[in-house]
Amino acid sequence: MIEPLILVIEDEPDLRAGIQHNLELEGYRVQTAADGKEGLRKARDQRPTLILLDLMLPGMPGLEVLRHLRETGHETPIIIVSAKGQDRDKVQGLELGADDYLTKPFGLSELAARIRAVLRRTQAGAKSSGERAAANSVMKFPDLVVDWRRFSIVRDGEEIQLSRYEAEILRMLIDRRGEVVSRQDLLRKVWGYVHLPTTRTVDNHIARLRKKLERDVENPVHVVTVHGLGYRFESQLLEES
Ligand code: CA
Repeated sequence: MIEPLILVIEDEPDLRAGIQHNLELEGYRVQTAADGKEGLRKARDQRPTLILLDLMLPGMPGLEVLRHLRETGHETPIIIVSAKGQDRDKVQGLELGADDYLTKPFGLSELAARIRAVLRRTQAGAKSSGERAAANSVMKFPDLVVDWRRFSIVRDGEEIQLSRYEAEILRMLIDRRGEVVSRQDLLRKVWGYVHLPTTRTVDNHIARLRKKLERDVENPVHVVTVHGLGYRFESQLLEES
């Protein structure tokens, strides 16, 4: 098996070299980038297994790198690294789809533990999504086809890629279609781990999911809001294969 490739996007040379050295001792392959633009380019070209992303970066801030990657369908697990006092950025990072965060200064053993945990979680997640998908790979609804093998949907003849979180949210809503699924339920099942989870995180992901699913996001027909309670998938299943 090829060792996981970690991309370290960090502008402080000593810290970058220290992290690289330690991750290599842990057995990982490591690529580094010293600014946001180089980081974004390497994230796309090198297809790393995981990205360690500093938020304060020259060229392009870390949150922009994260946003670009997620908007273009890159679901690489990302751990963001923030300085003390950047709590708002941290929360925003998680809402944009980061998988975990570390606050500087951090110990290298803590870093290694976080990386292992995120890799375990994301690889297990991919596997279990794959197993579930095997049972019913393609589901057709009025004006909407969901393809679980490709983590994509087709609307108006156009295939649109879903992020891992979007796919898991949609899966849960469709599995329980016709029922109200609460934000807390979604947080527990989809995120499933403890860190600053807010129900706003759920709402932001639902908003992104709706942009992909719905013709008119102001009047959604697939994922509707049940005020004060949560969300419900409304559409009738037409066909499953
Ligand atoms: Ca920095």
